Amino acid sequence: MTDQPPVRTTTPRQARPAGAPADTAVRETKPKDAGVRQVRPKTEGWQQAKDETGRPLLQFASPKRGKPPVHLADLTHDERIAKLKELGLPGFRAKQLEKHYFTHYTSDPAAMTDLPASGREELVAGMLPPLLTEVRRLETDRGDTIKFLWKLHDGALVESVLMRYPGRITLCVSSQAGCGMNCPFCATGQAGLTRNMSAAEIIEQIVRANALIAAGGLGGKKSSDHSLDRVSNIVFMGMGEPLANYARVMQAVRVMVDKDHGLGMSARGITVSTVGLVPAIKKLADEDIPVTFALSLHAPDDGLRDELIPVNSKWKVDEALDAARSYFDKTGRRVSIEYALIKDMNDHAWRADLLADKLNARGRGWVHVNPIPLNPTPGSIWTASEVPVQNEFVRRLNDAGIPTTLRDTRGKEIDGACGQLVATEEDEAAAEATPVG
Ligand code: SAH
Repeated sequence: MTDQPPVRTTTPRQARPAGAPADTAVRETKPKDAGVRQVRPKTEGWQQAKDETGRPLLQFASPKRGKPPVHLADLTHDERIAKLKELGLPGFRAKQLEKHYFTHYTSDPAAMTDLPASGREELVAGMLPPLLTEVRRLETDRGDTIKFLWKLHDGALVESVLMRYPGRITLCVSSQAGCGMNCPFCATGQAGLTRNMSAAEIIEQIVRANALIAAGGLGGKKSSDHSLDRVSNIVFMGMGEPLANYARVMQAVRVMVDKDHGLGMSARGITVSTVGLVPAIKKLADEDIPVTFALSLHAPDDGLRDELIPVNSKWKVDEALDAARSYFDKTGRRVSIEYALIKDMNDHAWRADLLADKLNARGRGWVHVNPIPLNPTPGSIWTASEVPVQNEFVRRLNDAGIPTTLRDTRGKEIDGACGQLVATEEDEAAAEATPVG
């Protein structure tokens, strides 16, 4: 199937009042490679859920399910003290429990000998209830990449992927069981949203990964690598749309960066990736926690992005880019644009040029682009772009002054790469056989 790239219209330039945002209307010329092959998103082997108007279904609200038990990591330090006092216990127990959990990565009362033996089990059960049961663990890259499948208290399944690189350890965490954003090229979206995860369910993924690393369970560390042996970087690129679960994700981020009562991680090592929920991006910029921000753009033109990222029906490319630019203005943090390169769909040279124009129209030095060759997902008819096409896409952006680096995702062999996280029938069967707790 071929169709023409969209005919681009120009917006008349108007006088701009002082302080108003720059005119970001991009003057469009007839694309040089007009008429090249254009594949459009459509599904094969599975049905994309639709709303009553026939558009791809978007789920923002979490379906009602039993709430996970409240855990220390769901609470602020003061709330932890208040809860202990309700139980008739001194407030300083909070500090002790925090140390066990965030520094020693344990929820085992037997390891907490500084707590009085009498009532210890009950105290720990009340403050550090079990949240994630490990169902399966898959390894690749000689043990440097590990995918975990976790069962939550209500049987919902989520995954996280742990990766050792020279000088850093990255954990890709899930923020929702399933996802309501319904992007047709992403496996997670195909099954819809099961529910939001709690802040503590998000944090527990890190604590469990840290426990495994401390026990020597993550691949081989080179003798020249002097980095700390714990998770240093978090990417919210597992299951879910983090900004659709805003309050819990932010509580989790606060616990991650809290040096006194949490994990003490650096905010810049935490990447929040979103399909582009514009009001939530603005809120995030006002939080005063300079996390790294990533926008999953995947197309610079609304014609294609409307189909590729269904939420584009609410917030268009230009609005999402404006929000990304204001994130940079507020935080000083350079933002990333994610772009899965899909053969003949979004990898055209004219799209690289249009993307560069739209980014440059918003200033210099505020953004970099991370193209990722598409990872295959079940039932998908699309494939990654050809290597010369990928290279050309990257070259055009770099030549236009936009720092661009192709990112190859880890974990493809274990279906642990971006967009591949979904509970399979095999996972469900293994979960069935795993008791919770
Ligand atoms: N909901 C968030 C985070 C989850 S996905 C978001 O959309 O940003 C993390 C990244 O992987 C996103 O950029 C997403 O678009 C990308 N992705 C999804 N499916 C993919 C696939 N099949 N191949 C490559 N990247 C994919």
